[in-house]
Amino acid sequence: MNMLNVLMLHRVLPKGEITYPNSYAEFGTLISLQTLENVICKLIENNFCFVKISEIENSKNNQIALTFDDGYLDNFLYAYPLLKKYNINATFFPVIEPCLKQSVLPIDFYYQFIDEMELDPLTRNNYIRGEPKKAFYWTEPKKQLVFLENKFGELPKRKRVQYMNSEQIKELYTNGNEIGSHGITHSLLTANYISEKTISEEIIVSKEILEKIISGPVKSFCFPSGYYNTDLINFAKNKNYTSVCLIKKNNHKDFYSIPAYERFFFNERTANILSEKLKLK
Ligand SMILES: [Zn+2]
Repeated sequence: MNMLNVLMLHRVLPKGEITYPNSYAEFGTLISLQTLENVICKLIENNFCFVKISEIENSKNNQIALTFDDGYLDNFLYAYPLLKKYNINATFFPVIEPCLKQSVLPIDFYYQFIDEMELDPLTRNNYIRGEPKKAFYWTEPKKQLVFLENKFGELPKRKRVQYMNSEQIKELYTNGNEIGSHGITHSLLTANYISEKTISEEIIVSKEILEKIISGPVKSFCFPSGYYNTDLINFAKNKNYTSVCLIKKNNHKDFYSIPAYERFFFNERTANILSEKLKLK
């Protein structure tokens, strides 16, 4: 399966609801509903068929798997009705903690701080892609809020984003979509702060929790931010996952004990590149 056939998405909003400045849009983790619909239509017209991650057949090159990471509520509000409109399915990888606690991930606060500050373009870009983001991102999730308070001050009272709740996740599943695990806290599984206990929780416990929510099997694990190694893939295999989702493979010579899908980072900026590369008419 070519990486162009497995598409990675995060947030989806109608154009009119996207406010600026918008760190998600700038980083690429937000696509407009219109662009998404436009590409879906073109894919259908070009005879691509939409499959869930666990249905991918490597021999077929006209398959497209849409994957939505993190579990933002906008997936349920906008992407899900769009899938129903075209009678297609996708795979969703919600992060357990913000969904079940109806909280947000620290990265959401980080982006909110940046978007509410008046920054010149260079400084903004550095916060979104540069060293400050890296320092924040590689901090253990439970210490990230303190990191933000130290850097930016008191956390905002009003949260800009919401996550799906368990009923919504279950509804996606009962309507034919696949639910995979993206961990509990979005910990980066190759980080220095990771212990064996954390790996077990993120990979095993997240699966158990989701399977209880949907009353069905959770077969795929999506590595938070794409950080993985072959030991982690083997661990997932031993815990009854049948595939994993990555962003890019670390090393094409690596051996993978179960299918490991590289994904195309599909967003507003890359939609045209995708259409060109798939030769969509
Ligand atoms: Zn993620």
